[in-house]
Amino acid sequence: MKLNERIKQARVSATVRLSQIARDLSTQGRDIVDLSEGESDFDTPAHVIEAAHAAMLRGETRYTAVSGTPALKAAVASKFERDNCLRFTPEQIVVGSGAKQIIFNALFCTLERGDEVIIPAPYWVSYPDIVTIAGGTPVIPSCPAGTGFKLTPNRLAAAISGRTKWLILNSPGNPSGAVYSARELGNLADVLRRHTDVHVLMDDIYEHIVFDAAAFATMADVAPDLAGRVLTVNGVSKAYAMTGWRIGYAGGPVWLAEAMTKLQGQSTTNPCSISQEAARAALEGPQDFLEDWRAAYPRQRDLMQDRLRIIPGLTVSRVDGAFYLFVGCADLMGTLTPDGRTLATDQDLAAYLIEEAGVVSVPGSEFGHAPYLRLCFAKSDAELEDACTRIASACDRLTGIGGEQGKRP
Ligand code: PLP
Repeated sequence: MKLNERIKQARVSATVRLSQIARDLSTQGRDIVDLSEGESDFDTPAHVIEAAHAAMLRGETRYTAVSGTPALKAAVASKFERDNCLRFTPEQIVVGSGAKQIIFNALFCTLERGDEVIIPAPYWVSYPDIVTIAGGTPVIPSCPAGTGFKLTPNRLAAAISGRTKWLILNSPGNPSGAVYSARELGNLADVLRRHTDVHVLMDDIYEHIVFDAAAFATMADVAPDLAGRVLTVNGVSKAYAMTGWRIGYAGGPVWLAEAMTKLQGQSTTNPCSISQEAARAALEGPQDFLEDWRAAYPRQRDLMQDRLRIIPGLTVSRVDGAFYLFVGCADLMGTLTPDGRTLATDQDLAAYLIEEAGVVSVPGSEFGHAPYLRLCFAKSDAELEDACTRIASACDRLTGIGGEQGKRP
């Protein structure tokens, strides 16, 4: 039996692979600081765990409605109205086993071979592979640091063709931390109004993790006239430190929600009944602790940013949201490791940092933007300090930084 071309072309998720390498090395006794993960180090709130426990004791351990329990869908509808001024009926809402499954289902239901999906780079690792598995073609406009890692109306217009089915937008963005303002989304909406067949998959999973003066905005709210072709995706993973519970959800047009439900009914059936009750408690319960969490992130970001900025060869850009630093390392390309190997790519640098410093990061090339490293800063101060000291000392052992011959003074 041969594997099909779509799965052969898809890559193993880099973040999943690197997190596994970190776990394996730790198990072997290596002293590892894992900054490759896409999750915060807060614990799932106690009231959420208690709600899951109570649900089990009540016997809510059976199949549920495929697209989510009525109670969770009501909580999702209230959340959309409370936080995003979006109104959805239960028929417009689908709950899945994580936002990843929601995105997969939406693309799988809608793409025919050759249909194009615009994915601005740097992008979340999984988007292009999900598009490929679904039979579509990723179209990847580059959005460099000069554009704040954001898609501009001109680049969007240039990327649209007669085959474009979807534009995927992610704000706050993984890996860049870029946050689209309402005005920037409005400018993209102006382009989309001229292309009535293009739909928008708006990935809001980092909605609650925005800092400083940045304000979260989402397309269906900014451009209500486009709402009929926007799927607004979100989940509890990042906001409530619930990555392991696997609950994501979306609101969008009924025809799409129905198709996604049909697909889910023939694949995973319903998301875990216990996790659904936990997600309901997260969405309906107190939200004030999110403020405390939100206050912690910029402090962690500043700690790491300040320590990395002084390392020769690394460039640290501004981060307005999510919990990653996206660090440029162009000046380290071409340098030599102590054992004489050349660091030609960000993959080489990431491998060197694992070997030499025990620090696991994700190379920017995995996000379609090289040479960069993505480092998660949702860690304790001690871990961040430790990681920065290790990175500094590993970089200090490189020779030829910035084209210099020999070691820096
Ligand atoms: N979207 C983005 C941008 C992400 O970074 C992630 C997870 O890392 C997801 C979606 C998937 O989240 P979930 O845990 O809900 O599947």
